[in-house]
Amino acid sequence: MPVLDVRNLKVSYTSSGPQILKGIDFSVDGSDFCAVIGPSGAGKSTLIRCVNRLVEPTEGDIVLFGQNVRALRGGELRHLRRRIGMIFQEFNLVNRMSVMDNVLSGRLGYTGAFRSFFKAFPREDIDRALHLLERVGLQDHVDKRADALSGGQRQRVGIARALMQKPEILLLDEPTSALDPKISRDVMGLIRELADEFKVPVLCNIHDVQLALETCNRIIGMQDGYKKFDGPSKGMRKQD
Ligand code: ADP
Ligand code: ADP
Repeated sequence: MPVLDVRNLKVSYTSSGPQILKGIDFSVDGSDFCAVIGPSGAGKSTLIRCVNRLVEPTEGDIVLFGQNVRALRGGELRHLRRRIGMIFQEFNLVNRMSVMDNVLSGRLGYTGAFRSFFKAFPREDIDRALHLLERVGLQDHVDKRADALSGGQRQRVGIARALMQKPEILLLDEPTSALDPKISRDVMGLIRELADEFKVPVLCNIHDVQLALETCNRIIGMQDGYKKFDGPSKGMRKQD
């Protein structure tokens, strides 16, 4: 069974408005590192946001971990979201909190306000957070405020936070758009390395086609709300 199975997905944001997704089908397997590419406005973000139901589909089915996402109610949806790691374009860190606290907050999922400070966490969570911070190269920045870091470092905190919750899938919404090209490559390379190590499948909305070809093993191409391409990145070139 695939980790994620999307069938005939249609989305309109308003009843009289345009259809943004016009019947999308695809599935994601455990070993996929899958890029979603396409021009601005194609519906890439909308597609990713349907998976954790930040956007409500108008029609179709989304089955994640064998559960029909559209049928879930409050508590069930919160539980499902804890199994999804999110990495955002603007990092979405809490600036006034330390790097360590930001990473630990991932333990709680994205389901409620983060109130505890790290003394309240069990030793095993703190050890895991420290280990992840080392893996992303931030072991010397653990106690700094999040807003004292550079963009690339902040996204590394975002990566560690997403992995803190032991996600079973990672959803990335333009994770490198706020970063320069060199840092973007480093960040995508790091995500690839960690996703392979922890065996987490990835669905990644990314606008940089070259970077998608370099780091992802599968490419879904979107245009005007349709899926126009779906295949291995191997052997593909940018002009294809
Ligand atoms: P992409 O990620 O490919 O740039 P998006 O999914 O962000 O595309 O947007 C696709 C279209 O949906 C755009 O025309 C955008 O303006 C529209 N859109 C996105 N979010 C909303 C929203 N919350 N309400 C209405 N329209 C939206
Ligand atoms: P992004 O950085 O993902 O491209 P945008 O600037 O397109 O974000 O949109 C920011 C927020 O506004 C998102 O939550 C998006 O869903 C929403 N949005 C985008 N386009 C529209 C639209 N035409 N009408 C209403 N909301 C929109």
